Amino acid sequence: AELIESETSLSLWPGSWFQVGNNIRKEGLLLSEFFEPGSALKAMAERSHDDIIEEITASGLKGRGGAGFATGMKWRFCRDAAADTRYVICNADEGEPGTFKDRILLNSHADTLFEGMTICARSIGATRGYLYLRGEYRYMLENLESTLQQRRESGLLGNNILDQGFDFDIAIVVGAGAYICGEESALIESIEEKAGIPRIRPPFPVTQGLWGQPTVVNNVETLVAAAGIVLHGHHWFETAGTWQSKGSKLISVSGDCGRPGIYEYVFGITVQEILDDAGAENVQAVQIGGPAGRLIAADHFSHRIAFEDLATGGSFMIFDESRDLLEIIHNFSSFFAHESCGFCTPCRVGTTLLKNGMDKVCSGHATAHDLDELSRTAALVSRRSHCGLGMTAPNAIRDGLKYFPDCFEKRLLHKEMEPEFNLDASLE
Ligand code: NAD
Ligand code: SF4
Repeated sequence: AELIESETSLSLWPGSWFQVGNNIRKEGLLLSEFFEPGSALKAMAERSHDDIIEEITASGLKGRGGAGFATGMKWRFCRDAAADTRYVICNADEGEPGTFKDRILLNSHADTLFEGMTICARSIGATRGYLYLRGEYRYMLENLESTLQQRRESGLLGNNILDQGFDFDIAIVVGAGAYICGEESALIESIEEKAGIPRIRPPFPVTQGLWGQPTVVNNVETLVAAAGIVLHGHHWFETAGTWQSKGSKLISVSGDCGRPGIYEYVFGITVQEILDDAGAENVQAVQIGGPAGRLIAADHFSHRIAFEDLATGGSFMIFDESRDLLEIIHNFSSFFAHESCGFCTPCRVGTTLLKNGMDKVCSGHATAHDLDELSRTAALVSRRSHCGLGMTAPNAIRDGLKYFPDCFEKRLLHKEMEPEFNLDASLE
């Protein structure tokens, strides 16, 4: 990978650093692109909303939060929904453990992001937008507000933007630290000053979102990419990547490696290539997409980062052979039991049962029967939960049982004994 920048300190984790790698080309990617405030808006000014939506659709841009829904289609659905009021929301509630790629965009590319939101607003016919900022990113608030103010003073935000007769403004809402508020409908509830409990979908936000009005909710990286596409045209974007995954992806690399940080790759990069760039050796497993994503073993390192292969919101956690994977999976199960919003029974009870099951395995008290029970509970929680949190909470346990069965089996209580006796034995 070509090193574009290095040794730039990040304010949140002193001592860490970021690096931007680009395995195919240097020009035209999100982090290396010089962006003059207002340039994408000027490129948009002469074009109709239909043209802009067509441009985004033609680029093949898909949602960068992880799910990969087609952005042009989302904007089109919202535009076509019958309503007088529509909203744009930028989901900057970057809460997935191991994901910190939006942080650099919010820190260093806020103008591009606000431009992306403004372009989306004009395309769908919105006059109001919200940036929902992760509670832990509150320290960025002052800078973000000042960027918004500068844009208002430069005629790039507010009334009659660029003298085009188009009004749009953005407010920032800071979250309170709940992971579930990264789920779009819980996020909308939170902006409405209600508890962050996911709504039943459908209806999706594009038809019934904020205060019941059609709303586009896009991730930070998606909106930054949209601004680039309007500025440079869809060819700039669609010529990079794979046939189903266009453009580039920011990846937050952390864990056991010599060069952790934020990398930008064209889609189609293999896991092994990222490990090589990061200087990772003796790798046992990689967690792709955070605890809600996939825990993969060395057999899968030839797989590609792409929506059609390994999709990710941006987390890439590396564990070398010195790590006890069971403790890592245990940690993830505690995280989900803690973050479950408690609204639906399969997740509220199920994530606690999974955590308790992992407690038992890790303490060496579990039998083969307990592993069966863990596996059955994990499948039930995945299938029956109300929202994505519960549906994905058991992923690490399921992948662990499937790809790393030895880690579980070597911790089992081998002798079949009476339960009371088990307890006594454990205290010795
Ligand atoms: P989803 O597939 O249900 O929806 C993705 C997007 O497409 C949403 O905006 C949704 O409104 C829209 N959509 C889907 N079907 C639609 C339809 N028929 N009509 C109109 N719009 C439609 O996924 P999700 O549950 O919203 O998100 C889950 C993803 O979030 C996971 O892939 C996970 O990796 C990711 N995630 C990311 C983070 C992070 O920090 N970036 C954190 C947690 C989870
Ligand atoms: Fe809440 Fe979990 Fe149910 Fe989602 S799956 S609504 S987080 S209890």
